[in-house]
Amino acid sequence: MELPIPRPNHDTQPYWDAASEDRLALQHCTACNTVQAVPRSFCGNCQSSDLVWRDSPLQGKIASFSIVHRGPTKAFKDYSPYVLALVDITDGIRLMLNIVGDDRLESRICDPVEIIFEARGRDGFKMPQAKRSVSK
Ligand SMILES: [Zn+2]
Repeated sequence: MELPIPRPNHDTQPYWDAASEDRLALQHCTACNTVQAVPRSFCGNCQSSDLVWRDSPLQGKIASFSIVHRGPTKAFKDYSPYVLALVDITDGIRLMLNIVGDDRLESRICDPVEIIFEARGRDGFKMPQAKRSVSK
């Protein structure tokens, strides 16, 4: 069973468009220089609507994670065990991403990760994910 695909809305469409091109785009407020990870029509810090999208670096570090052994739905059960993580990306933003890759269950806090884009579904949709970049 295929994993679900998020439904973009007016605020999140640019984020998903960028992901489909292997880019991690985040909203930057031009009034106060805040970067925000949850796309909105205004800045969460100063309420300005002067927001621009900029590409972020594709590296981060695991801040916390949980290994899920029992997925909540059939699709996630088939995907289990999977690793749900909070990843600090270099922009000072924390994103919730899955750690993917054969070594995902060996994840440790502070492990460096690379943001990758996993194709999902048939319409060119891609989901940002994280892959450990620890050298062995
Ligand atoms: Zn602002």
